[in-house]
Order: sequence, then structure tokens, then C-alpha cells
Amino acid sequence: MTAAPVTRFAPSPTGYLHIGGARTALFNWLYARGRGGRFLLRIEDTDRARSTPEATEAILKGLTWLGLDWDGEPISQFARADRHAQVARQMLDAGTAYRCHSTPAEIEAWRAENPNRTFVSPWRDADPAGAPDAPFAIRLRAPREGETVIRDAVQGDVTFRNDQLDDMVLLRSDGTPTYMHAVVVDDHDMGVTHVIRGDDHLTNAARQVQVYQAMGWDIPVFAHIPLIHGTDGKKLSKRHGAVGLHDYAAMGYPAAAMRNYLARLGWSHGDDELFDDTQAREWFDLAGIGKAPARLDFKKLEHVSGHHIGAMPDDALLRELSRFRAEIGQPAFTETQIARLSPALPVLKQKAKTFPQLLEQARFALIGRPVERDDKAQAALDPVSLRILSELTAALQHVNWTRDELEAEAQRLAEANGIGLGKIAAPLRAALAGRTSTPSVFDMMLALGRDETLARLAGAAG
Ligand code: GLU
Repeated sequence: MTAAPVTRFAPSPTGYLHIGGARTALFNWLYARGRGGRFLLRIEDTDRARSTPEATEAILKGLTWLGLDWDGEPISQFARADRHAQVARQMLDAGTAYRCHSTPAEIEAWRAENPNRTFVSPWRDADPAGAPDAPFAIRLRAPREGETVIRDAVQGDVTFRNDQLDDMVLLRSDGTPTYMHAVVVDDHDMGVTHVIRGDDHLTNAARQVQVYQAMGWDIPVFAHIPLIHGTDGKKLSKRHGAVGLHDYAAMGYPAAAMRNYLARLGWSHGDDELFDDTQAREWFDLAGIGKAPARLDFKKLEHVSGHHIGAMPDDALLRELSRFRAEIGQPAFTETQIARLSPALPVLKQKAKTFPQLLEQARFALIGRPVERDDKAQAALDPVSLRILSELTAALQHVNWTRDELEAEAQRLAEANGIGLGKIAAPLRAALAGRTSTPSVFDMMLALGRDETLARLAGAAG
């Protein structure tokens, strides 16, 4: 039996959770969770100038919103600097790394004289006995001959000529580890077996593999996934608008829909477009990740979102709607609102593609009296309509409050007045919801109950 995989998400906390990052996290989560493995979180906070605790908070919040739980505590890369230095010194002792006394100015001068050549430190082959007692960086003694091959689960074999990779710095002369070195030490120590990340890290992988080899460590499976592109096919950037996961949360897409949609962004399982978490965990594999960049497609997202809203159990939907309201800074639902909204949810969730769409249709259940009406609703309450409404009001005093009786009553009234049912529905919508586009009048009446329905009808009559 092969050991359960360990994956990780390793964001740099310099902003919010980008949807590209969210997708990377999701792929790692699905891969681990589908195989009884572990999904770890590492905050790559070595860049002290750019890393902020607020950004870490925002990233954790984003992952939590998306429903991606990680195992154990998030690991701070910065906190592990001593360990990174220790490994670099170990490599020095083993001869797989060396002390480099070249100053940045010297390296720059060398580069100016040797354009297009890979820098090779003069200290690489210098006699250590003759080394000055001066600050030094620790550089990897990388092979100069041959090739370094990344056996990438998405990209296939990617080959780098070793004479084009310089001896990367592991530890700077001030004793701080480089990011590239830290990543390898951390992934090794965390037992990471699969590195699934954006293909902007593919060239880093070549240098990182050299560190694994120098240490004699097992190389993880690499899977470099193509970045997400915008609707215009260009690399996703702020110019495209919504690039933060929080933007999508604020637009009212359920987390379950985002998981489904993001999973399909670059990965496929036959023609399956709509699936739940259980299926995603079961199906997700590296072989299904495409080599071409996936494009954002809001139409598709809406479709996926509508499906998930419709499939959500009512109690879960109510919780999600509450969470959404809190997210966009609206007050929590009152008990009355919940009492009126709940019976209407089975109907409301069939049509809405986003939470704002659902809440717009749910307006009748959320408003109080007097009902505020828009112009169209106002126009629907013409004198003839008001007379019919008052007849209906009288008739509704005594019927049993069931769909059958309400429908029968409306039907009777329509026939008695020689009009279609629609003629009654329009003013009823206006009276009950203050709008002309609403769920069916019977659904609204049932959800509101007799007293509230009658009170709103009376309110419309003035
Ligand atoms: N911290 C890197 C980033 O945010 C990820 C590094 C990695 O996954 O190896 O792009």
C-alpha cells in the first residue's frame, strides 16, 4: 500500500486570497482528502517587508469560507529560519555547498562583462584554506554538467541544462535563508509528497530539485498547473475585476459552487460539470489537469451556482444566506423574517443563481409594513385592481389557508369579474411584495400567513 499523500498550500501573505491561489489550495485539498492524506498550510512570510498578519488573516478567512480545512497549525516559514540555516551548514560540511565571498557589486560587474552567461562564483573551486575571514553566502554546489529533469505530473518531463542554472544562494551573508531554499527544507520536513502549484514556479522546481538531490532527500511529485486566464484569454489580473475569492463571496456565489467551479477550472472528469464534494474528492486526480490555461467564464459560474443553490437543503441554505448577509454587512435575519422566508425557500432556490437574486425574490418575506412599492408596483394598483383586491380580501377572511383553497378563491373571483388570473396576480404582487416580479402569489400568501397577507392587502387599499 502506498503511503497517504501529504499536500500543502503555501501562500505568501502579501494580500488577499486570489482565486488562482484558492484553486491551488482546492486542488491540494481534494488530492489529499480524496486519498486519506493530509493537507497542510504553510505561510511563506520570509519577505518581512511585504508580509503582514492582516494578509495571513485574510487568507485563512478565505480558505475557511471556501470550506478547505487544513491539518494541524499553519506553519510560519519565517519561524523556521534557524532550521533552514542549519541545513545550509550541513550542506557546507558535506561539500554540496560552498562559501561564496563574492559581493553583490562583484557579481554585477561579472555579469556586465559576461552577458547571457550563468554566473559561476570564483569561490566554487577555491581552496577553503585561502578564504578570507569575511562574510560569505552559502551557495549550492550544483552540477555544471548534464541536465536537471522535472518529472511533472501535468507538464510531463521538463528538462533544464545544468550549465544554465547558477549555484543558487541558500543562505545570504547576513545569515538569512533564501526563499527557494526554505521551500525545499520546509516541504521535506513537513513530509510533503505532492507539490501542486502554479506553473509560474516551474523554473524554481529545477533549482529546488538540485537541493533535494544534494541532500539525498526524496523528491516530491510536482504538478505545475497552468494559471487562470481572464474572460479575454489573457492572464488574470486586477484589470479583469473580481480576482479575490472574497469578491466572489460578496457577489453571492455559495462556497460549494465555488468549489465545483474552481475544480473545473483546469481539471476535468469526462464531461461532468456539476458535482458535489464527495464526487470531487473521489474523482480528482493529477491526470485530469489540463496543460492549457483555463478561462474564467461567468456564465458557467452562474450555472454551477444556480445548481448548487437549488440542491442545497433548506436549513443549510438559510445558514448560507445568513452568512452572506453578514459578509456584505447586512443585519441578521429576525425571527419573523426567518418564519416567512423558510416556507418559501423550496420555491426560491429553484430559480436563483446567486444569493442576491434569491434575496431579491425573497423580498416579500423580509420586508415589513407599510410595504414600500416601486413605480411598477404602484401602477399595478389602479382603481379597478384595488376593487378586485378588496373583494379578494373579503373572501380570504374565511377560507382555509391552503394552496388549494387560495387558488380556488382566486379562480372564482377571476371568473366572477370576467378577467384572467394574471389580472389578479399583478396587484397582489404589488400589495404583498411592493414589486411586480415575485414568486407566485400563492407561495407568498402561504409563507406570509393569513394575518400578514390581509394586513398587506389592507395597506394597499390605503
Ligand atoms: N509562496 C508561493 C506563492 O505564493 C508558493 C510557493 C510554492 O507553492 O512552492 O506563489
